[in-house]
Amino acid sequence: MLSRRHLVGATLGGVTAAMLAGPGLELAIPREASAQSTLSPDDALQSLMDGNRRFVERRLTSFQEDIDMLLQHTAEKQEPFASVLACADSRVPVELVFDQGLGDLFVIRVAGNVVAPSQIGSVEYAVEQLGTRLVVVLGHTGCGAVQATLDVLQHSAETPSRNLGSIVDRIRPAVEGLLATELRRDREALARQAVRANVRVAANALRHGSHLLERRIENDGLLVVGAEYDLETGVVELFDGVPEAG
Ligand SMILES: [Zn+2]
Repeated sequence: MLSRRHLVGATLGGVTAAMLAGPGLELAIPREASAQSTLSPDDALQSLMDGNRRFVERRLTSFQEDIDMLLQHTAEKQEPFASVLACADSRVPVELVFDQGLGDLFVIRVAGNVVAPSQIGSVEYAVEQLGTRLVVVLGHTGCGAVQATLDVLQHSAETPSRNLGSIVDRIRPAVEGLLATELRRDREALARQAVRANVRVAANALRHGSHLLERRIENDGLLVVGAEYDLETGVVELFDGVPEAG
């Protein structure tokens, strides 16, 4: 079964399928039409947000897909329409919260969604080799890695190992500035703002930490956006680098 998300941006005789696909209308078009090459970065983003709405409204479609057909289609070649850098937190399963299936997303997960060279390299691979034109940095409320960093900064907590310390060190520059503001007195608001600050820094590190990605942004319209997933509601909110509507 092909779900409506496969129709976004697909062109049928000059008419975009998205124009044809009203609520509940399913059009049988080949899976090929969903390849990332046919999706503009804006359409790819819309497709993700539509998937999150299905998740929030408990109308998931990915699990109804024909796995045999998808395995057959993706075994030789992957064509993910978006790359997502997310936290490793078990409560943020990326494909599920965006209601996407096999072969749809190139997902990189690491505690605190931090950007180290291997994460940049992974995104470069998705962009250069797989043609992905949308990159989403997805943080989440209640992030343990961000809170651990705040605890180190505010209460001189010790990280149990150098390896964990390397994650804290990547988050630290993003949140340090917040502790110089009144936010330091409000634990909840501080944590919330720190998550977003960390996402912004990660998104910027992807935008400017690689000549290759920088060139793609300038010449090919590669889009890098920052978003936050809410653990309580399941809603993804875009808040960084989002293009103006229209
Ligand atoms: Zn986290």
